[in-house]
Amino acid sequence: MMLYIHIPFCARKCLYCDFLSGYGSEEEKESYVRSLLQEISLVKEPVGRYISSVYIGGGTPTVIPAKALASVLASVRERFVLTPDCEVSLEVNPGTVSEKELFLLREAGVNRLSIGLQSPREQELRVLGRIHGWEDFLRVYGEARDAGFSDLNVDLMYALPGQTPEKWRQNLETVAALQPEHISAYSLIIEEGTPFSRMQLSLPGEEEEYTMMEETQDVLSARGYLRYEISNYAKPGYECRHNLGYWERKEYLGLGLGAASYIGHRRFSNVRDLKTYLGRKGRPSEIRENIRTLDLQDEMAEFMFLGLRKTEGIREEDFFGCFHRSIWEVYEKPLTRYLDLGLMYHRDGRLFLSRHGLQVSNVIMADFV
Ligand code: SF4
Repeated sequence: MMLYIHIPFCARKCLYCDFLSGYGSEEEKESYVRSLLQEISLVKEPVGRYISSVYIGGGTPTVIPAKALASVLASVRERFVLTPDCEVSLEVNPGTVSEKELFLLREAGVNRLSIGLQSPREQELRVLGRIHGWEDFLRVYGEARDAGFSDLNVDLMYALPGQTPEKWRQNLETVAALQPEHISAYSLIIEEGTPFSRMQLSLPGEEEEYTMMEETQDVLSARGYLRYEISNYAKPGYECRHNLGYWERKEYLGLGLGAASYIGHRRFSNVRDLKTYLGRKGRPSEIRENIRTLDLQDEMAEFMFLGLRKTEGIREEDFFGCFHRSIWEVYEKPLTRYLDLGLMYHRDGRLFLSRHGLQVSNVIMADFV
């Protein structure tokens, strides 16, 4: 079992962001932490079960004082049993956390930081509406090392307005030179309702975006990173166990505003309205909604489109072990098509996307839904 904890506050909204996050007053943040602690104390499902990873994401969790985040982790430890090697990740934005707080968070048990940089270029950061500069990132990166963090991820974005493949390559090289253990590289998606969706942006074309995706693998593998998922690269042994858990359909409990859960063949999520969440004081029966029991068809589809995100793909015997049916009996048509097209390989009982298949994975996944 894994835990996800959502902190829905940010210092300021980035222009491309459609995550469940926004500015919060000090009073709202305090009240939110109280409700979250209450929710943790009231959940029933996984008590007594081992937790293999905890992921505190947002929003920007570090806009909450480190002391309060430490109290959330302390209450998690009271309520659940964390495995001795439990991965405890925290999302951090440069400009929102001090060195002292990083030490405190390390002491509280956080052992992996995911730093939202997005770009090392000041101009690109301004375009995205980020609150920090490159220097802020360097400071937080160095302080995280000083505080004892030996597992750092850096989030980057490509296909930004005005960006060329050459600029993206330089961005990758600049960040990889620091040797973080993990790099996530996502392409910018223009989401409806965001300021970006209403702006005239000069975005790279499809071909340029494709080149950038290709460059990512070339640059990072030359520097010792393994691509283990469509957008994720890690030094050997530093793959994010929490994210791998999602793709391997491990059960997880989401805590906090809008957090999603997958437990016992059911998917559900918490309410997304802050006032409602605060008003119901974390009572699980009153904050959970969209409860859906997955049928066999849903589970098999999820197995396929989540598992194929990983570069190692899926194992035929795992499919059989889960569903007591052969993967070929259920998905013969799409599997044969993508194998024939060279977008997928079949080797040693595993099915996985080829390099080209990973670039067009959205189209392939849709075929399994
Ligand atoms: S910091 Fe992250 S969550 Fe917050 S507005 Fe920016 S992209 Fe969204």
